[in-house]
Amino acid sequence: MLYHSTTTPSHRVDLKEAILRSLPPDNGLYMPDVLPTLSGPFWEIWRELTFPEIGIAVADAFFGEDVPPQALVDIVEGTVSFDAPLVTLAPGDHILELFHGPTLAFKDFGARFMARLMAWLTRADDRELTVLVATSGDTGGAVASAFHNLPGTRVVILYPQGKVSALQEKQLTALGGNITALEIQGSFDDCQALVKSAFLDRDLSERLNLTSANSINLARLVPQSFYYIHAARQLPEGVKPTFVIPSGNFGNLTAGLLAMQLGLPVDQFVAATNMNDVVPEYLRVGQYTTRPSVPTISNAMDVGAPSNFVRMQALFGGSWEAMKERVSGMAFSDDQTRAAIRTVKSLYDYEIDPHGAVGWLAAQKWRTAHPGSATVTLETAHPAKFLDVMEAELGAHCVEIPERLAVLARQEKVATLLPADKAVFRDWLNSM
Ligand SMILES: *Cc1c(COP(=O)(O)O)cnc(C)c1O
Repeated sequence: MLYHSTTTPSHRVDLKEAILRSLPPDNGLYMPDVLPTLSGPFWEIWRELTFPEIGIAVADAFFGEDVPPQALVDIVEGTVSFDAPLVTLAPGDHILELFHGPTLAFKDFGARFMARLMAWLTRADDRELTVLVATSGDTGGAVASAFHNLPGTRVVILYPQGKVSALQEKQLTALGGNITALEIQGSFDDCQALVKSAFLDRDLSERLNLTSANSINLARLVPQSFYYIHAARQLPEGVKPTFVIPSGNFGNLTAGLLAMQLGLPVDQFVAATNMNDVVPEYLRVGQYTTRPSVPTISNAMDVGAPSNFVRMQALFGGSWEAMKERVSGMAFSDDQTRAAIRTVKSLYDYEIDPHGAVGWLAAQKWRTAHPGSATVTLETAHPAKFLDVMEAELGAHCVEIPERLAVLARQEKVATLLPADKAVFRDWLNSM
């Protein structure tokens, strides 16, 4: 399979380049030349399949031309080693829990798959692969956990000093082994600028075999489509779901569109955002206007220029009308989100995190307008990751901290402190 850039469709690369490069040089995004579908025989038996079996079929549809069957099985089984259960709050009101992975957010699916696929693609290279990533919090933790102890790879994570939560910092700094954390005396933007400067340095980039674990990597999207099929399979036969997706960069929603493209029957997608509502606004007025992001309590969705929007457009052939038919947009304020956290707790004794709460609000609105429909709201993170927000609404000790998080919190932080200085950073990399 070849992959082309959304900006210059004639720019085509193979799988290895699309995954290791992450981004085409023209700043577009890679898309597969042919969008795969799953065959009739798959859709006859899909409801009987396990979660990993669904993942293997989807991964084969995308990567089967380039990756042999047993390697794909190993990659998928290594990725999907935990469940994504569907919880029913009330008739038609379903929650898909995507936080059962090691770092308690859906980003584990994408990061774990990407790490394994990258390791396979570089298995014959004689040099180690060095993954450079700048993080403002969640992505770095998922990437660090995914690559931890993976042979032939090492990871350097840059994070802004004092600007990530204590728990997030532990997720970056307490793993050890092939994971190195650099605590940068600067902002997230400084961290990103340092990473960019290393990639622009051709010699350094070649010598260290640098790659990025960027969130728009195609290898992160494909595994996110597994759980749309797995969720629909958990509904009664014949029920066509409306998926409600709390969104920031719209990777999750794009993965849902890929699942529909594969043949999954879907009623509608609802893009739920906080006040960073660039996409709901586009769906309403037909004009796409990016803006600087504003801070909210669902901060993983504070995005003013969603990076996967061009992929969504590509999947609808650039047509606003076509996208509007399939995707609805809704935005909610922090006050509404806080009230939703309290309501879900009092009605169903369920602790929903601030991102899931934005989705739940959209789901209620959708079902009110479309009685009898079944919504599946993606719960993108465990509420323990946002303890301050949860405790402000529900009181102290309202959320049980999962053991895998508690263990990490007790471990020691190991990080190298560096100034936000390109020359110093280059010297550090050169001495690795
Ligand atoms: C990253 C993230 C999101 C946003 O997902 P996108 O794919 O960027 O739209 C939502 N919720 C949580 C908890 C996240 O970490």
